Amino acid sequence: MPDIFQSRCLETWHSDQYPSSFQRLHAVLGIVGESGELSEILKKDTFKPDYQSTREQRLNELGDVFYYLCILAHLDDCTIDELSQMNHDKLEGGHGWQPDYPAQLALIPAD
Ligand SMILES: [Mg+2]
Repeated sequence: MPDIFQSRCLETWHSDQYPSSFQRLHAVLGIVGESGELSEILKKDTFKPDYQSTREQRLNELGDVFYYLCILAHLDDCTIDELSQMNHDKLEGGHGWQPDYPAQLALIPAD
């Protein structure tokens, strides 16, 4: 049973008459595409002179990613609350590795 937000997403999801595998592919490609849009903003923030994204721009793209994520979770009969709880439980013991940013930055050639 979809939650309230997933139900809202499903109102604009026009693929529900197609096989689940087709819908999953649509949703995954949507996540990838919208993640790309978010990446583009962050790329410009870092590399485009005089460019600075706004919080609204970043959250707008993040929301687009979330839309497809909600659909994808629904296709596996999972609500956002359930997914959040699963991830919460998974992170309870950490995620298994600790980045060493100073060491990783040192690996990047300085030209
Ligand atoms: Mg977008």
